Amino acid sequence: MEKYSFEKIEIINENFSLWLNKLAKDWGRTIEEVALFIGNEEITNRTQNYPKVAKTLTTKTIDLNNFSKAISKCWALGGRFDSIHLNSFINNNIKAQDAINNFIREFPMDDSEAAIRIDNFIHIAVKLGFNKKEKGNDLAGAALFASTILTSLYPTRFVDFRYNRWEVLAKKMAYDLPPLKDNYGAKILWAGKFAIYICETETYKNIWPTEPPNYDKPLWVISGICWKGLNPEKPDIELPNPYNDGFPEGQKKRVLHEKRERNRKLIQKAKEIALKKDPLLCCEICNFSFKKSYNMLRDGFIEAHHKTPVAELKENSKTKIEDLALVCANCHRMLHYYGGNKTLSIEELKNILNN
Ligand SMILES: [Zn+2]
Repeated sequence: MEKYSFEKIEIINENFSLWLNKLAKDWGRTIEEVALFIGNEEITNRTQNYPKVAKTLTTKTIDLNNFSKAISKCWALGGRFDSIHLNSFINNNIKAQDAINNFIREFPMDDSEAAIRIDNFIHIAVKLGFNKKEKGNDLAGAALFASTILTSLYPTRFVDFRYNRWEVLAKKMAYDLPPLKDNYGAKILWAGKFAIYICETETYKNIWPTEPPNYDKPLWVISGICWKGLNPEKPDIELPNPYNDGFPEGQKKRVLHEKRERNRKLIQKAKEIALKKDPLLCCEICNFSFKKSYNMLRDGFIEAHHKTPVAELKENSKTKIEDLALVCANCHRMLHYYGGNKTLSIEELKNILNN
């Protein structure tokens, strides 16, 4: 697998953040509110339907009726021609089944092999149904079809793909476009990689939630943003404002360990508020400022300390901004280390430091 370039991530991050900030300003909303709004319905459509598509594809014999029902509900594949073409593809029952089977079974990890596999499938899909006398071959439709299948099966590698949408997003974020001569296979892989880059930006990591059902598959989130979110209209509805009631914290995640997660958005918000009062964002205990001491251009570098340890939070307890203290890395370590098993309070460490 290709190494990811930090430089590219930084460039995307910069443009992504500028775009969000502009929207937030235009709408008179916080960036977090904007984030939860853009592409929202598209994201929901993906999280509701892609797993169902995947399920119909992981049975031993694929039931094309079930598959067709599931994939027809995916908005990415929702055009009129796409549906007509999909139907004629499905009607070639045995051939269609073989085509899908050959496409997805032991899908190659290697990108160039994967590109060939995708292009072969597109070629067959065009033959079987993605074509029309007067319109000719619907390569773009077949590519969208192929990418939707892959996205539902491999949600950490692929995104549903219409070239023009990803092209607009790539231009907005100054990401290299694929060579014109590339076939669809290579372009679909390109879009997946681009979307992974977006997920790696600080902007995405800091602002978007990670919780299911809508946010635990980052590439589906990015696809949703790409699809509808690029030129979102100012919402005239009440946006969700999670900051009023505090966030649900400590929700169990069924990963390897049941790990309790601190809520990034809350931390981000705490930093924003603190920055307004103190642009140097000094440590609440020792007054150290990363910005001042390291002469940093970027704002907002400091650690957040939960006054109630996250491990002690109950399943659905909510943390509010006032439960967080913003402290430097040294003081943060000391808060947890000094007292052995007992975490010190902010006041206690302050007193120790001043004596
Ligand atoms: Zn400190």
